[in-house]
Amino acid sequence: MGSGQVTDWQGKNVTVAGLGVSGIPAAKVLRGLGAVVTVVNDGDDDRARAQAAELEALGVTVRLGDGATLPDGTELVVTAPGWKPDKPLFEAARAAGVEIWGDVELAWRLRGPDAAPWLAVTGTNGKTTTVQMLAAILRAAGLRTAAVGNIGVSLLDAVLGDEQYDVLAVELSSYQLHWAPSLRAHSAAVLNLAPDHLDWHGSMEAYAADKGRVYEGNRVACVYNAADKATEDLVREADVEEGCRAIGFTLGTPAPSQLGVVEGILVDRAFVEDRHKNAQELAEVSDVHPPAPHNIANALAAAALARAFGVPPRAVRDGLRAFTPDAHRIAHVADVDGVAYVDDSKATNTHAAEASLAAYESIVWIAGGLAKGAEFEELVAKSAPRLRGAVLMGADRALIREALARHAPEVPVVDLERTDTGAMLAAVQEARRLAQPGDTVLLAPACASMDMFANYNQRGDAFAAAVRELGAGA
Ligand code: ADP
Repeated sequence: MGSGQVTDWQGKNVTVAGLGVSGIPAAKVLRGLGAVVTVVNDGDDDRARAQAAELEALGVTVRLGDGATLPDGTELVVTAPGWKPDKPLFEAARAAGVEIWGDVELAWRLRGPDAAPWLAVTGTNGKTTTVQMLAAILRAAGLRTAAVGNIGVSLLDAVLGDEQYDVLAVELSSYQLHWAPSLRAHSAAVLNLAPDHLDWHGSMEAYAADKGRVYEGNRVACVYNAADKATEDLVREADVEEGCRAIGFTLGTPAPSQLGVVEGILVDRAFVEDRHKNAQELAEVSDVHPPAPHNIANALAAAALARAFGVPPRAVRDGLRAFTPDAHRIAHVADVDGVAYVDDSKATNTHAAEASLAAYESIVWIAGGLAKGAEFEELVAKSAPRLRGAVLMGADRALIREALARHAPEVPVVDLERTDTGAMLAAVQEARRLAQPGDTVLLAPACASMDMFANYNQRGDAFAAAVRELGAGA
């Protein structure tokens, strides 16, 4: 199919892998363009059958219960991003010389000739927050924009819908990048890189390489984290357009071609005239909500992308002020008896929890859940001086308990065995017992939630409900 725009879809045989949030809209769009579409799906349950019936009514063929075999005559595979690259379906496609596109690649190829440029964000943690900050800044500059991709509006809707955009703030996961070989962003940022999803990618190198694709072909700026050398290395390895610049962000004083922080002010030493002598004030640290160190880093990354797009300094400040974080991301729930209760249920891996713990001085830490193969040594060793105590729950809590015993033997630990619906209230009550006025009780589990909860939202809601119960009873 080549790497350019495909204009004639009439009669093209396309196999869509996976019924789901990306597969169903992709199948509909491709069918609407005249392609002959077959959807293949591993599962075959009531829900899948209902979805299949809806697609079949539009003239799409659906094959349930067999996602492994490549339908005869397939000219292109469009896959859900989560499908692992070593699936037999893909092996068959590769053997037959058939291209495989993900949802992002499809949207990229279907965008019109005057389509809005993309400012892309990836990283292990902070993507959603950064993309939302970026959209808020772009909006404050009077630009028509949306936060799209892994969040909010789907990319297909954004590129094919009636709404006109000047620029898109695009969140991309490592899976999506894996399947998006021809994507070329205006500018892009990799926020950080820590081991995650390694079972999918196969190795840290492969994971980093997929993240690094976001920089390929950038025109104006490749934004990296000066405190995370791996992100800078990815910029160095990327093949970019002539004149594209490497722009760092740092929580310290910025060097030329960086954005950073000087005495409580976010400053730009990259997109200014004579960057060796000048710096431009963008906003105050207190304009960032919440002003936790990792979130200031997110704000700097968003500001760098916006500035690369030519947004004036004032809009950076106004956009950051207008931004409100999504739920369960360092959300302050309440103060009870002089103790702050903070819900960072979205800290589902150790890297996120480490950032979260670094934001408070004295913490009673509520942690645990499904570890997904993670190790807790480094997280616990680094965070130990800040811990007043820890309350552990969930399937893999023993791993955290052992790390605490090794690196913070003096920290009191409560090990909660219960996993029933009242467990979170018990955890919060235990945390209250350990906390002293001025402390923060922080839910930053460093683990996934699915052993005890439907998802991290439900876990965070349970925490907030328990805190309210404490407050009411106090
Ligand atoms: P993502 O979309 O990458 O999952 P979010 O913005 O939803 O990122 O944040 C997820 C969690 O990651 C937050 O709850 C916080 O604990 C942590 N986090 C956010 N930004 C950063 C960062 N820059 N570095 C490390 N951890 C972060």
